[in-house]
Parts: sequence; structure tokens; C-alpha cells
Amino acid sequence: MINIRKLIYPWRYLFLSLCCLLLITACNTLAPNTQSDNKSLKVATDPTFIPFEFQTPQGELVGFEIDLMRAIAQAVGLTVNFESLPFDGMISTLQAKRVDAAISGITITKERLKTIAFSRPYFKAGLAITVREDNQDIKDFNSLQEKKIGVQIGSTGADFAKTIPNAKIITYNSGPDFFQDLHNGNIDAVISDAFATLYAVKNGNLKGLKVVADLLTEEYYGIATPQNSPHLDAINKGIDIVLSNGTYKQIYQKWFNVEPSQLPVELPLK
Ligand code: GLN
Repeated sequence: MINIRKLIYPWRYLFLSLCCLLLITACNTLAPNTQSDNKSLKVATDPTFIPFEFQTPQGELVGFEIDLMRAIAQAVGLTVNFESLPFDGMISTLQAKRVDAAISGITITKERLKTIAFSRPYFKAGLAITVREDNQDIKDFNSLQEKKIGVQIGSTGADFAKTIPNAKIITYNSGPDFFQDLHNGNIDAVISDAFATLYAVKNGNLKGLKVVADLLTEEYYGIATPQNSPHLDAINKGIDIVLSNGTYKQIYQKWFNVEPSQLPVELPLK
């Protein structure tokens, strides 16, 4: 009979070392999460902003910004985990660092830059007035005076509405709700992001409504992050890459069917 103890004894140190090596390798293969977590960004979005981000009837998250965020991340070797959040809670969630970034048609403003950071602009946007198709008297800023105006809480549209003399402002939690109220005649006009509204009108999702041609503002969307984010440089690099290699243009045309606008590298806001 072979005595295993006696056999191993002279090689005991080598045997122990081999066991240690095996253990270390096993740990590394079984726990790759610590490494991949650094490579994945947790990104907040409010999927009620068609066609920037919305859910298909099957529950799949799709849209211009979903494609764009994935492409930006991929360009710098990162992946994205989206988390749905109401638009109004986006900034406080970033401040609390509960997510790495947010993409949700968020306009870069001086006020917001006091509490969060933004990437370079990735979309040229602006506010527009929407009214019922038969409305003839609301055509510009001045004709909004003393009118009942619907806006989304916490949006640049809500800030803008405050500057209209004697307007009665009605706030809504979610974008699509104010269009329903406008359609029903409960409010006279909506002030919201032009591109999303134009898209909905064009695709027949907002029947009986029209967008007043002249935009009220010029705005730019940026990807928002907490201040001093370790990811902001990579995100900006990713935007540079997708802008210069044609990916941005391709995604823009897929969703909007037109050539993208020129984008500044930085806004004169700080
Ligand atoms: N661009 C607007 C803002 O930043 C609103 C965008 C949206 O409703 N998702 O306030």
C-alpha cells in the first residue's frame, strides 16, 4: 500500500504553494465583478421623452439617447446600465452620486452647473410653444401673457414660463400629460422641448395640436454627471469619437431623418 502522507511529505511546500495558486486563480475567475463594475456606467434616464428615450410595448428601452449613450460608452471601452428615474429627481440623484451619469434631454444651464457637471453638448435643442390646431391668437412670447400654460416640473420650460407676465402656470410630473390637458382644453398652451414635440406631432401621436414655428430659446443637451466625476473625461472622449467617426450622424439620421446641427465644443456658461 502506498502511503500518501509519506509520498507528499518531501514535497509539502511545493504542494502548499500549488494549492495557494489554485485558490487565487479560482477567486479571480469566480469574482470578475469588481473589475467589470469599473467598466460599467449606471446611467439614469426618464423614458417618457419620445424619441430620445421611451419604452416599446414589450418594455424595451429605446431611443436616440439610448443608442447614443451606448455608442459613446462603447467608444471608450465602457458598457451602460440604464436606470429609469423621473426627470424631476435626476439632479438630486446625481448630487447624491447614486448614479454615474444621466442622459435625458437635460439642458446645460448655468444654474444646474452650480450643483452638477455636464459633458460637452451633444444635441442642439430649444423650447417651443404648442397649442390646439384651431388656435389663432398664440403666436409668440407676448401672446402668452395671461394664458394658462402647461410645463413639466423642474424643466427649462418651467423656468421660461415664469418669465411670462401674468401667465397661469400649471405643472405636470410627466411630459405627455400636459398634451392631454391641452387637447382637452384645460390649458391654452404648453412650453416644452421642440424636437420631442415636433416628432410626436409629425408621427400622429399628438392629434389636434400644432407647434408654433419660432423657437423661444436655443439650448444644448449634455450628459450630466456628479461634480468631479471620475467618468466625465471618458464620456467627453467618447462624444468626440462618435462625432468624428460618423456614428453620431448615423444615429441622428436614424431617429430624426435629417442632418445633425453643428455643435460647439463648449458653451459660454461658466
Ligand atoms: N430639456 C429640458 C430640461 O432640461 C426638458 C427635458 C425633458 O423633459 N426630458 O429641462
